[in-house]
Amino acid sequence: MALITINKELCKGCELCVHFCPKKVIKMSDGFNAKGYQYSSYIENGECTGCALCAKICPDVAIEVWR
Ligand code: SF4
Ligand code: SF4
Repeated sequence: MALITINKELCKGCELCVHFCPKKVIKMSDGFNAKGYQYSSYIENGECTGCALCAKICPDVAIEVWR
């Protein structure tokens, strides 16, 4: 089983990972980071395949994939 971690302090809230995740296991959170950006968060439901599309698309290198 794969999972991702999102460094919320690196996230600028562009939402690219939300739109590109084929499993739709990333959503925007309700919170804001120290820089004032709304950050994305991982929905841990066992569906992540570890495809790493999210990590590749993130312009701020905020996502790590574990598999
Ligand atoms: S690794 Fe793939 S399936 Fe998992 S969160 Fe990222 S884009 Fe979605
Ligand atoms: S792609 Fe990166 S910067 Fe954009 S919302 Fe996702 S984690 Fe944040």
